[in-house]
Amino acid sequence: MAIASYESGHKADRIRRANRQKAERGDWHGGPRFGYGLNGALVPREAAIVREMANRCLAGQSLRSIAQWLNDESGAVPTHAAQGTLGVWHATTVKSILTSARISGQRAYEPGSHNGDSPTGRKILGPGNWPAIITPDETARLRVIIGSPDRRASASSIRLLSSIATCGLCGAGLMSGCNRGAALAQKRRRYLCKKEAGRPDRGGLSIVAEPLEDLISEAIILRLAHTRMPKAQGGTGQSELSAALERVAETRARLEDLSSDYVRGLLTRSEFSSARMAAQGEIVKSEAVIARQSRSTVFSGIPIGSESGMRAAWDRWNIPQRRAILAAIVDTLIVLPRRDSGPIFRPDRVELRFKV
Ligand SMILES: [Zn+2]
Repeated sequence: MAIASYESGHKADRIRRANRQKAERGDWHGGPRFGYGLNGALVPREAAIVREMANRCLAGQSLRSIAQWLNDESGAVPTHAAQGTLGVWHATTVKSILTSARISGQRAYEPGSHNGDSPTGRKILGPGNWPAIITPDETARLRVIIGSPDRRASASSIRLLSSIATCGLCGAGLMSGCNRGAALAQKRRRYLCKKEAGRPDRGGLSIVAEPLEDLISEAIILRLAHTRMPKAQGGTGQSELSAALERVAETRARLEDLSSDYVRGLLTRSEFSSARMAAQGEIVKSEAVIARQSRSTVFSGIPIGSESGMRAAWDRWNIPQRRAILAAIVDTLIVLPRRDSGPIFRPDRVELRFKV
């Protein structure tokens, strides 16, 4: 008996060591996962869905509303029985995909935590050798958003412009709040630059919330009412997105081949650098397509080009839906300071720039 248990303990150790070594080499671990097939090969259709899930989460949509979108509209099925989903998307499925390191092409390893369900995801060791769907920076942001303890409490009370509007003095994202010390009449909700420990430049600027929200809503409605979007017909957008994701993955692989050829002396320095420049140009081009397509998927089902349609839709939408639109078309929204540092709203305190 003692020997048997020693044996199995020994074996478990060996497996753990082997897994750790695999992770350190950057090898794909386990079977296919949503977005990826065997050995981490990209499944472009699923990868496009992962990309959109990330967009929606970064734009402030809740895990539950993303799961609802997946079930109702995406046509995608969580394929891998190991996740215990029975063909239905749940908030927890969405969470485990979005906090995973693998979707940004990174390897994670944390012995004893195999569900990937901890709020901040498993520890990241470094780059893996499979294609990324989102950037490592986006994974870091998703983990912060999803892991933030006040997210659940404030999910329903998140305001239209929280962290989208930025401070004209220090560049920080403005948060919604009230001025507690003020007289009752002054207690209007406002957006403010929060004080931050160790950042003396932060804090102070504020602006009354409602007129700012009205101004921005009006600007968005008019912008979209007078925009002509190239109509993506029945899923061409999705396939263009898939193709672009595939191209980025292929070009990244080609870049790696190029550097190993160069290291082995198969390419001269100038051959290497011109081939590398061409490949990098290709990646930039494809990434622009991905950004544009991701943006246009946000607009599917939106009455672009019709002012009355836009007004009705804007009224109907909830805050996360409106924020998804804002995130897609607003480049910068800066609130400038007032000389007396008061919260009074004036249109000339607001600088709004759209993405082209
Ligand atoms: Zn500030």
